[in-house]
Amino acid sequence: MPKKEITIAKYAGFCYGVKRAVESVNKLKSQNPDKKIYILGELIHNSQVIGELENSGIHTVEEIPQTNDCGICVIRTHGQTPQTFKAIENAGLEVFDLTCPDVKKVQQKAVKLVKEGYYLVIVGKEEHPEVTAIKANAQQFGSNIIVAENTEQIKPYEKELKEHKKIGIVVQTTQMLSTLNPVVEYLTSISKELHIANTICPSTSLRQNEALQMAKENDLMIVVGSKNSANTTHLAQITNKITTTIHIESAAELDLYKDTIEKSKKIGITAGASTPQSLIENVLNCLSEVA
Ligand code: SF4
Repeated sequence: MPKKEITIAKYAGFCYGVKRAVESVNKLKSQNPDKKIYILGELIHNSQVIGELENSGIHTVEEIPQTNDCGICVIRTHGQTPQTFKAIENAGLEVFDLTCPDVKKVQQKAVKLVKEGYYLVIVGKEEHPEVTAIKANAQQFGSNIIVAENTEQIKPYEKELKEHKKIGIVVQTTQMLSTLNPVVEYLTSISKELHIANTICPSTSLRQNEALQMAKENDLMIVVGSKNSANTTHLAQITNKITTTIHIESAAELDLYKDTIEKSKKIGITAGASTPQSLIENVLNCLSEVA
């Protein structure tokens, strides 16, 4: 069988925000061996990493623990609402805030725009925890705020937006430029003053641009990472428009795509911001066995 050309993306795997969060939480545990450490929600969307943290005594919880032991509650990279920060303190727990600095910037920008009287449009997924936190932070200073992923979701507010005149936009850090652009175009057509803060984080932009380029150069793209991870799913959406794409969570799934892999001469591999390096390496090693 002719040898395949396999390329791994330069920006595949942990972004700096995730790296910082995983390292910081492990350091926190080693500095506080006797304290209970909780992470509110998954630190990253990866069951292997969550399992390793659990084994080190760092517990992932869905609700704020009501415990009498003194403990520390970690805020993950997505950030949290001001109400949740308060509730953690009320539960007698210390807060350890690992909100990614790039997410913090979006929260600060959203707050600034609302304070300055802009009608705020948050471009993102309403139910995504990062978006929930951005919105809740901004809502402390005003109520003219909507979340939308496309123009259809904004149209019901068109009259209000036109009357308001000043419109500000911030974007969920892991969104695609192709989601932001049509929203900007539509809002430009109905506003007198539009302030656009493109808050897609640099790490996401670099990764998405590289994936796009790789999709043009390869017969097959393999995107590795959790199906729950917004940024990983977006990578697969981007490459799928250009070339055959498979989105897998682990090397074990490669078997399902044996025929597709066999047919492909040039294969590109990329991975989401929460995909550990070891998973990417496993995929690479298993590819030679499957193909
Ligand atoms: S994807 Fe961007 S915003 Fe999210 S944790 Fe990574 S660096 Fe931070």
